[in-house]
Amino acid sequence: MKPSIFFALALALAVLALALGGRKALADAEGGWHTTEYGGLTVTALSDSTGSMPFTLFYDITAEDFAALAKAGGSPSESEVTSWINAFLVKKGNQLFLVDTGMGAGPSIVPLISAAGYTPEQVTHVLITHFHSDHIGGLLDKDGNPAFPNATLYTPVRDEAYFMPGSGPGVNGTELARKVTAPYKAAGKYQAFEPGAQIAPGVKSTSLWGHTPGHSGFAFETADGPFLCWGDIVHAYLVQFARPEVTLSYDVDRPAAAATRRKVFNEAADGRYLVAGAHLPFPALGQVLRKGGGFVWSPYQTSAPADGTAAPPPADGGQAPAPPAAE
Ligand SMILES: [Zn+2]
Repeated sequence: MKPSIFFALALALAVLALALGGRKALADAEGGWHTTEYGGLTVTALSDSTGSMPFTLFYDITAEDFAALAKAGGSPSESEVTSWINAFLVKKGNQLFLVDTGMGAGPSIVPLISAAGYTPEQVTHVLITHFHSDHIGGLLDKDGNPAFPNATLYTPVRDEAYFMPGSGPGVNGTELARKVTAPYKAAGKYQAFEPGAQIAPGVKSTSLWGHTPGHSGFAFETADGPFLCWGDIVHAYLVQFARPEVTLSYDVDRPAAAATRRKVFNEAADGRYLVAGAHLPFPALGQVLRKGGGFVWSPYQTSAPADGTAAPPPADGGQAPAPPAAE
């Protein structure tokens, strides 16, 4: 049985607790981490959890079209599709970047980081794509201290303004955003970045606004071309590659989210980027290819890289990352 609820993108605590209770612990059963060498980077995908997204969350698509795409993609249900929650650890020289932190409680990415051969103390930069709970939920340990004590936390300034207004109740997610950022601010390890800001040499933010006002990607320059961590450009890969215009209720600005998705798909396909997606099938590394009038997702392990040579064999964490239960 897979969890029935999900994608609690930072709503009421009760909703959050219910979602956490329904999480599937890939980490325990299937390894939960996966390392790939790419262009001088060592990229480790971390599987926080999986869940299902019902049709009722989606906009700009009919139930019939949704069902047809789900069925064509092998989904066991035509009224919901599986989604994943991933974070990414990127080693670049002697710097260790963590892109997003998962939901955090219960099974968390910290044991996965250790299993992959790193320690939380080695993380130098925590890069947050946006302030939803499935991205910032893992910032603190169980005692409320920074889970990555030596890292500086980087957050998009436009999400900071939206989720952490100076006073007042704010929006759904405000309470969590204030809570998880406070210890980093108190330690002097917090930076809000402007759209397009250079985070570190060879690491740049890119505005992907729409899903949230500050939603951002992180582009790493590599010897083999760009590597883009694109956060929530895609929530439901069986649906949104074929139909980039499809949005969902979590999008703060749905038309902007759809326009940004199409723009990024085009750029990624033209530039043959290696992409990492927070909600793509673990280990969630691959390329965007054009097909007909739409796009398709090509997982890195099975796709030919830009130079046409065989992709290197992945290095896995003890146990090979089995396909998700829903497949
Ligand atoms: Zn998300």
